[in-house]
Amino acid sequence: MTDLLTPVLTANWADDRAWTLDAYTARGGYRGLEKALTMDPDAIIEEVKDAGLRGRGGAGFPTGMKWGFIPQDNPNPKYLVVNADESEPGTCKDIPLMMANPHVLVEGVIIASRAIRAHTAFIYVRGEVLHVIRRLRAAVREAYAAGHLGRDIHGTGYDLDLIVHAGAGAYICGEETALLDSLEGRRGQPRLRPPFPAVAGLYASPTVVNNVESVASVPGIIAGGADWFASMGTEKSKGHGIFSLSGHVAKPGQYEAPLGITLRQLIELGGGMRPGSELKFWTPGGSSTPLLTAEHLDVPLDFEGVGAAGSMLGTRALQIFDQTTSVVRCVLRWTEFYKHESCGKCTPCREGTWWLVQTLRRIDEGQGRPGDIELLLDLCDNILGRSFCALGDGATSPITSAIQYFREEFEAGMTTPSRDLFPPAASTLF
Ligand code: NAD
Ligand code: SF4
Repeated sequence: MTDLLTPVLTANWADDRAWTLDAYTARGGYRGLEKALTMDPDAIIEEVKDAGLRGRGGAGFPTGMKWGFIPQDNPNPKYLVVNADESEPGTCKDIPLMMANPHVLVEGVIIASRAIRAHTAFIYVRGEVLHVIRRLRAAVREAYAAGHLGRDIHGTGYDLDLIVHAGAGAYICGEETALLDSLEGRRGQPRLRPPFPAVAGLYASPTVVNNVESVASVPGIIAGGADWFASMGTEKSKGHGIFSLSGHVAKPGQYEAPLGITLRQLIELGGGMRPGSELKFWTPGGSSTPLLTAEHLDVPLDFEGVGAAGSMLGTRALQIFDQTTSVVRCVLRWTEFYKHESCGKCTPCREGTWWLVQTLRRIDEGQGRPGDIELLLDLCDNILGRSFCALGDGATSPITSAIQYFREEFEAGMTTPSRDLFPPAASTLF
C-alpha cells in the first residue's frame, strides 16, 4: 500500500531537526533555487504551467497561469503573498508542513517571486500558531544569512525581502482579498473581484496570492522538471498533494499521495477505520465542501472526480465520521463556526447563518418544527450564489448535502434530541 504514497514535501518530516537549513540542504534543498536563478523568469512560469500545478488552497486555479496574469508593463511593484492562514475545519496540511519543512516554502517563495519579478514577498500566517510563526522567522533568518534572501542574491543582481506577517485569527482573512486588506492594516473583509489581485492586489499593485502548499511544490518542479511532477496524479489534476485524514480512522495524519487516489486507499493507508467504526459520511475538502458517503469511497480525489460526485476537492481535509456521529449535530457545529466567522459585510451570509444556527439548534435539541427542513433549504438557497464571497456559499454545503443523504435524521429531530439518538459516549473518538 505504501507505494501509493508520493512523499515529496513530507519526505523529510521525520529527519532530525528537519526544519533547519543544514538538514534541508543535506537533502538537496535549494537546488531548485540554484537552477531557477539561471533561468529567465518567463521560463520559470512556463515550467510551472507545463507541470500542471493547480492551487492547493482549495480552488485549483492553475498556478502558472496566475503568475502569467501579472502585468509586467504595470510600473507598480509586484508582490507575492503566501496564504498561510489555513483555517478550513479539518484542514491541517500547511501548518505541519511549515513546522517540519519551512525551507521548502522559503525556497518556493524566492523562485515564485523571481518568476513574477517581485522584490517583496509576505507569508501571512494565522496569528494563533505562534510556534509556526517563530519557526518560519527562524528559517527566513537562516535564508538571509546564507544569501538566499536580501540584496544581490548569489551575485545575480536579484533582490528579495521576505516578511512573515502574523494575522489576528479570523477565518475570513484566508479569503485572499480580505487577507490583503488585513495585511494593509485594515479590518479583513473581502473586496469585490474583479479586479483580481493579479491586477490590483496589495496596495493596489499586481499581486500573486498563493497557498503554502502550492508555493512549496515549486522547488521540486524546477529541480525535478515539469514532466516529473506531471507524471503523478491524473490528466487534469497533476502532481502530489497532502491529504489530512482525521476522525474515526485508526491512524489520522497527513498522507502525501498523487491526486486521484481514493478515500478507500487512504483509509487503508491510515490503518483502516477504528475498531467497531463503519464509514457514515466524510468531507473531501473540509466543511465547506458537500458531504459524501460510503458510496463515494472509490471516487478519485482529484478536482474532476470529486466534482463529478457532487462535491469539491477543496483543501483535501478528509474528515471521517462513523455510525455513532449525529450528522445534525456535526452540521450544527460547522454552521456555528460559519456564523461566528461571517465578517458581516453582506446580508445573506450575516443574517442567513444566524437563522441557520437557530433552526439547526432546534432540530438538534429534538424541538424541530414542521417545515424546518424546508426552511433550512430555503435559507441555503438564499445564501448560495447571493453572498459576497465563498464563505456564505461554503456554509450551505454541509447542510444541503446532509439533508440530501440523511433527511431522516433531520426528521427525527422534530421529536428526539440528537444526544439521545447518538449518545456521545458511544463514539470511538472519546
Ligand atoms: P476562486 O476560484 O474564486 O479563485 C481562485 C484563485 O484564482 C484566486 O487566487 C483568484 O484570484 C484567481 N483567479 C480566478 N479567476 C481569475 C481571473 N479571471 N483572473 C485572475 N485571477 C483569477 O476561489 P477563492 O474564492 O479564492 O477560494 C475558494 C476556495 O478556498 C475554496 O475552493 C475552498 O476550498 C478554499 N478554502 C480554503 C481554506 C483553507 O484553509 N485553505 C479555507 C476556506 C476556503
Ligand atoms: Fe462576509 Fe459572509 Fe459576505 Fe463573505 S459571504 S463577505 S464572510 S458576510
